[in-house]
Amino acid sequence: MNKTIDLHVHSTASDGTFTPMELVAEAKRCGLAAFALTDHDTVDGVSEALAAGKASGLEVIPGVELSTEYNGTEIHVVGLFIVPANVKLQAELAKFRDNRDNRNLKMVKKLQDEGFRITAEELYRLNPETVVARPHIARYLVNSGQVKDMKTVFDKYIGDGCKCYVDRYKITPMQAVALIHQAGGLAILAHPCLYKMKRVELTAMIEELVAAGLNGIEVIYSCNQGSDEKDFRSMAEKYHLLLSGGSDFHGTNKPYIHLGTGKGNSAVNVSGLSFEEILKQKQDVSESLELKFSKHASMRLENRKINLSKEQSERLESGVQKASEKGIRESLVIVDSLAFIVNVPNKTVVTAMDRTESDDNIYTNIDGAVII
Ligand code: MN
Ligand code: MN
Ligand code: MN
Repeated sequence: MNKTIDLHVHSTASDGTFTPMELVAEAKRCGLAAFALTDHDTVDGVSEALAAGKASGLEVIPGVELSTEYNGTEIHVVGLFIVPANVKLQAELAKFRDNRDNRNLKMVKKLQDEGFRITAEELYRLNPETVVARPHIARYLVNSGQVKDMKTVFDKYIGDGCKCYVDRYKITPMQAVALIHQAGGLAILAHPCLYKMKRVELTAMIEELVAAGLNGIEVIYSCNQGSDEKDFRSMAEKYHLLLSGGSDFHGTNKPYIHLGTGKGNSAVNVSGLSFEEILKQKQDVSESLELKFSKHASMRLENRKINLSKEQSERLESGVQKASEKGIRESLVIVDSLAFIVNVPNKTVVTAMDRTESDDNIYTNIDGAVII
């Protein structure tokens, strides 16, 4: 049986108007079995959504939508089933945020130079605990009666390339795939219909993304037109990609898009997705990414009554990731007073020991070490 799910949804943590908790209530009202919270460049709404979902028996998938750039075009990559606390993901998202804040300051300055009454302080005061972005600026100018509608603000001032527009820090979509993977998630190419790319350009990009490990593509999307859905389905089939889809719900910021059903016509209904299939592939991916402990290593930890804290496990994992980036095959990874020998390509901890043990600590057969 197919369930109705929506794998692309925004909350007030980015530029949506529903709080994560309100989204859960709305999803229940719409009869969804699950939805993924995929805010722009932040996971700040995820824990609230997960808690609300748990309380009301609705599955919430932790996600994110990363902005990237490919040959001058802004490309979005959605991460599903990510681990929000992942250290590297958090660090990268913080970089995006810093950059966006600086960018807002610069755009506000340019708008002031054009004669608009707008200050960054006011903008942040009106939009607390949010990734303030261009829609917030546009809404401010409209609400304060300085421009007649949001579209005009974008078309004349802050749209891409317009006179008050400022560029921002971006990664490539391939880097986004890697970032999502190391945070335990599935990487999905978002809304291919929006990139205004010719089919041959899109195919070339998808091939690069597939080489980087892309897992899926948003085949079902609110703004698909003409043969879009059919074409994206055949691309997904050709490259063995998961079919994903979602409404890209933003609340009243995009009032014509509804949770679960997009624009309300059958072509964008997300009920055609196989949720089970997505879950299964998620398991396959996380198995291949997860750090495993050999029997010997597990026994040693057990005998010494060593329990790794969540924070230590994450550091160990990020140490293995670093070793892998440096091409180390057998690595010593030191976390606090613990030492691990890891077979990096197999992502397996071969042995573990406490450095305070009285034995001589002589490690042979390693070709690198990471102290983290
Ligand atoms: Mn948005
Ligand atoms: Mn997007
Ligand atoms: Mn979106």
